[in-house]
Amino acid sequence: MGVSLPLLIPRRRLCWRIAQAAVFCVGAGIVLALFHRPRVGLTALWNVLVPVAPALLVVAPGLWRNVCPLGSAALFPRHMGWSARRRLSVPMQGWLALTGLVLLLAIVPLRHAALNTEGPLTGAILVGVGLLAVGMGLAFEWKSGWCSGICPVHPVEKLYGARPAISPPNAHCTQCHRCSAVCPDSTPNMTPLIAPGTTAHAIMGTMLVGGFPGYVWGWFQVSDGTGTSAAGLADAYAWPFGGLVVTLALYLVVRSVTPMRGRAILALGFAASAVSCYYWFRLPMLIGFGRYPGEGVLVDLSGGLPAWTPVALQAAAVAFFAWWMVVRPARRRAWTIRPPFAAGVEPIVEADGSRLARA
Ligand code: SF4
Repeated sequence: MGVSLPLLIPRRRLCWRIAQAAVFCVGAGIVLALFHRPRVGLTALWNVLVPVAPALLVVAPGLWRNVCPLGSAALFPRHMGWSARRRLSVPMQGWLALTGLVLLLAIVPLRHAALNTEGPLTGAILVGVGLLAVGMGLAFEWKSGWCSGICPVHPVEKLYGARPAISPPNAHCTQCHRCSAVCPDSTPNMTPLIAPGTTAHAIMGTMLVGGFPGYVWGWFQVSDGTGTSAAGLADAYAWPFGGLVVTLALYLVVRSVTPMRGRAILALGFAASAVSCYYWFRLPMLIGFGRYPGEGVLVDLSGGLPAWTPVALQAAAVAFFAWWMVVRPARRRAWTIRPPFAAGVEPIVEADGSRLARA
């Protein structure tokens, strides 16, 4: 947070705009395919883009924030001067963040109920989410409404992105207007626990850190095709939310006996267990070794690879994320480098020496 760079030089900004446009076109292509070539669209979304995303959020969350197609859609009105640029109060920012987490937890089980297999429905939901993103960008200043607000992916960015490998310039905000009380893009080693002390921020951070490992584990206990009947939805939701309750309770107990100085590592450990759990199940599935035959397969290599391949992949995933997120000495680094503060936005120095700004 303490570093500000001059405005992106035009050529570099042009490169980011080209990258944003290219990734946006890929996203739009996937949505079109979901309607017109559902198998292609579903494979591209669920078996390529989504499996890559958690690792990208661990290693380079700022890169993702700079090119995310929904983020580009949300911020397009601001770039064009069409945004009303309303400022959100800090408590309202907390409620938006908590709503984003609720949306995430509510949407993901629908994959088993319908979204993993129904291209047009998945495409329609993505279009709806895109319109919501644009609406938030039209109403609110920079990323406060969508990217750092109600976006359902944002909680996962915060959970996984504490130790980025790189810190590129912020390719969206041309000047910082301090739209977010704690800017997730500009705060070094961001976690869900670094937040203003509002009730909603506290609920969101605790539920996400403690509950997400169990939620991920529970999600993988359900196969596709539960359907959208009441019984099917109960099947789709029971395991993830049951898992969430178990690991959240475990987290609360362990946290209660953990000294304050150890709580950040505890949170990182829970975050590492969530992403490790994801790849523990997902990597074998991608190459045809999943427990539900034919589900989530990108390339079926099960006939040609040794039977110990899934165990090797699982061990590698756990070792990598434990090392990267918990063991490795972390450099003080934010997702992106904060742009210069706008005129009239007064930088202030926080207790940890990092700079915020006061409008
Ligand atoms: S850099 Fe400044 S304007 Fe951009 S998202 Fe962060 S707080 Fe908002």
